[in-house]
Amino acid sequence: MTNNNELSASISNDKIIKVLLVDDQAMVAEGIRRMLQGESDMEFHYCADPSAAIQTASELDATIILQDLIMPDIDGMTLVRFFRANNVTRDIPIIVLSSKEDPVIKSDAFSNGANDYLVKLPNKIELIARIRAHTKNYLMQLERDAAFMALREMQRQLEKTNAELQRLSSLDGLTGIANRRQFDTTLDAEWKRIEREHGTLSLILIDIDFFKPFNDTYGHQGGDDCLQRVARILDKTASRPADLVARYGGEEFAVVLPNTDPHGATLVAERVRAAVRALEIPHKGSTVDTHLTISAGIATLTPSNDSGVQMLIELADKALYEAKEQGRNRVIARTDLAN
Ligand code: GH3
Ligand code: MG
Ligand code: MG
Repeated sequence: MTNNNELSASISNDKIIKVLLVDDQAMVAEGIRRMLQGESDMEFHYCADPSAAIQTASELDATIILQDLIMPDIDGMTLVRFFRANNVTRDIPIIVLSSKEDPVIKSDAFSNGANDYLVKLPNKIELIARIRAHTKNYLMQLERDAAFMALREMQRQLEKTNAELQRLSSLDGLTGIANRRQFDTTLDAEWKRIEREHGTLSLILIDIDFFKPFNDTYGHQGGDDCLQRVARILDKTASRPADLVARYGGEEFAVVLPNTDPHGATLVAERVRAAVRALEIPHKGSTVDTHLTISAGIATLTPSNDSGVQMLIELADKALYEAKEQGRNRVIARTDLAN
C-alpha cells in the first residue's frame, strides 16, 4: 500500500524539477543559474524572449516558471494571464520576480494567477525551498488528475461491462432471443402500460409439435439446432418495435404483441406456422406432417382491474392445448376463458 507520504516522496525523488526563467536580463539568468547549479534534481532553462515563453514552457514541460515582471514589449502581468489561459501551462506554478517589495504589485500578481512573489535577486536557500514546495504541489496535482482520469475511465469501462451483463442476462443462451426473465418483465410492463392506454394485448404461445420424438430421432444437438432456427424465424416474423419474441421454456416460445387484436395476432401466428413449415426440417417422428411443425395458442385481453397478466398466460396456454387437441400444426385464438 502506498500512503500519501510515500507518494509525495516518490514524486519529489524521481521527478526532475524543470525551472524555466523568463527574464530579459542575462545577468539575472546567470545569478539564478548559479543558485540552482548545485541541485542535482533541478534543470535550469532560460528564455530571454517573453513572446516565446509560453511555447518554451510547453515544449520543455516546465514544472515551475520564474517570471520577471518588467520586460520590453510585454507587460509581466499580461504574460502571467497568458500562462493561465493556455491549456498546457494553466497549472504550472509561477513565481514572479519583481524588483520591488510592493504590496499593491504583489496583490496584483496573485490576482492575475501568480503562485508566489520574490524580490530579485532572491536569497538562494529561500528560492530553492520555494521552487521545491511549489513543484511538489504541482506534481502531486498532476498525479491526482491522472488518478482521477484513470478512475473515470475505469468507471466508464465498468458501466459498459454492466450494460453488457445486463443485456446478456436478459437473453437466452441457446437462441439469443429474450429469455423467460425478460419475457416476464416485459409482459408485466406492457400489461400495465396498455391498461393505462385502454388498449389490447395479445400473447402467442408456440410449442413445437412432437419435439420429444424429434430429439429421440435426431439427437439433442439436432434438437438444439432446430430451436435456434425456429427462434430466428420468430424474430423475423414479429417485427414491430414493441413486439417481443422470447424463449418461454424448453421448446416453447412466446410472442408479446402490444395493441394487437385477435385478428392481427392470428396473422402473425399463421405467418410463423407457415415459415416454420417452410424451413422443411425433416421430422420422421411426427404423425401430422413429414416436416417440423408448430402449434400456437393466442390470447387477447383488454387489461383491466379485474383481469391480470396471469389470466392472459392461462388463456394462451388453454388455446395452445386446444390446438394440440385438435390435431396440432394449427393456431387457435381465445379472448375468453369461459367458452
Ligand atoms: P407435443 O408438443 O406435440 O405434444 O409433443 P412434444 O414431444 O413436443 O411434447 P412436449 O412439448 O410436452 O415435450 C417437450 C420436449 O421437448 C421435451 C424434451 O424432449 C424436448 N426439449 C425441451 N427443451 C429442450 C431443449 O432445450 N433442447 C432440446 N434439444 N430439447 C428440448
Ligand atoms: Mg412443450
Ligand atoms: Mg411440444
